[in-house]
Amino acid sequence: MITKQVILKKDREKSVLNKHPWLFSGAINRLEGNPESGDVVDVWNSKARFVARGIYNEKSQISVRLLTWNPNDPIDEEFWRRRISRAVAGRLALKQDQSTNAYRLVYSEADGVPGFIADLYGTWLVVQFLSLAAEKNRKFILNTLLDLVEPQGIYERSDSDSREKEGLVPVTGPVWGEIPPDLIEIIENGLTFQVDVKLGHKTGFYLDQRENRMRASKYFAGKEVLNAFAYTGAFSVYAARAGATRVINVDSSERSLQIAENNMLRNGFNGREDVYSAADVFDVLRAYREAGWKFDVIVLDPPKFAHSKRNVEKASHGYKDINLLAMKLLKRGGILITFSCSGVVSSDLFQKILFGASLDASRTVQIIERLSQGSDHPVLLTCPESEYLKGLVCRVW
Ligand code: SAH
Repeated sequence: MITKQVILKKDREKSVLNKHPWLFSGAINRLEGNPESGDVVDVWNSKARFVARGIYNEKSQISVRLLTWNPNDPIDEEFWRRRISRAVAGRLALKQDQSTNAYRLVYSEADGVPGFIADLYGTWLVVQFLSLAAEKNRKFILNTLLDLVEPQGIYERSDSDSREKEGLVPVTGPVWGEIPPDLIEIIENGLTFQVDVKLGHKTGFYLDQRENRMRASKYFAGKEVLNAFAYTGAFSVYAARAGATRVINVDSSERSLQIAENNMLRNGFNGREDVYSAADVFDVLRAYREAGWKFDVIVLDPPKFAHSKRNVEKASHGYKDINLLAMKLLKRGGILITFSCSGVVSSDLFQKILFGASLDASRTVQIIERLSQGSDHPVLLTCPESEYLKGLVCRVW
């Protein structure tokens, strides 16, 4: 086989040797053998020694998605089968958990399948091909999943912005088997949720918060809870189960709130005084403050404010604003459960933002728990970018 090569610039092999799966265009000296986008390439250092193998994409800033550091490891059908099988095997504990039937089966770089995501929702699979490397190998990837999972159907949600950066157009729709209903019903920790896999956010549900919802549950009994950025009310349903007296749900999406209300009812929580408010959280927090409303517990789970390093500062202001307002809205000794899902905002920075908010709010704040993404969203040590969700449970005096 004639190999195609990417030759690195002198002194630019460190990140490759550290097994980071992204090779940026700036590290490349030249190409050999005319690789085309989607081709397997060998990466050589400046002394013409093999360092890694991956898939080339001339359209992306990430020129090569590195897949293996072993020269004897060909990128063929068997390779993808091994990677997908390994990912699925890593979810065995979740598979055996009778109280949950929705979780992430394959998480992109963290599972050695850069740009590919597969989420299981009961008997349905929802997939995202977000890199050319994954797109090019979709047949192998899907065939393995079909063998291992035997889903009723596979639905594609490759409509994330990251596809554009790879020179790919968005794609959504059924890819195999039956077409899922508009709302799929799943079970998470014994609770039932309706998931809109066709039009909902991401692949339909924030699976990454499953373990945090459980851990948050101990703070809700007998409490009045504000669930800000509620989406389809997952935290609210856990709060109701844990005995919250009332939950105020705020989200800008009316449709999400409708599903949130359905989710409450489907779990048998009816006749409650819960509130569903379709509005901007920033406005609502200010309005509640002016009205002198106080809460026992506030959950703050905003969308990603920072999409790149360039807007970390602006995002930090956003995080500070809502956390400051939330702190002011809490009774003395109240609980703030606050998250950031911006990968570029580190845990350290997030804690500093809360520190600033606490000073400006003139409240004494203690961290009582640190939260992260669920175990089905592993963090690969060689790819720190696979860590993005961080949360703090704080007691606010
Ligand atoms: N906590 C939820 C996930 C929240 S996702 C869960 O566990 O399922 C973030 C949500 O914030 C989305 O539903 C989005 O519609 C909403 N949102 C984004 N910006 C908003 C704003 N300024 N005001 C209110 N809601 C907003």
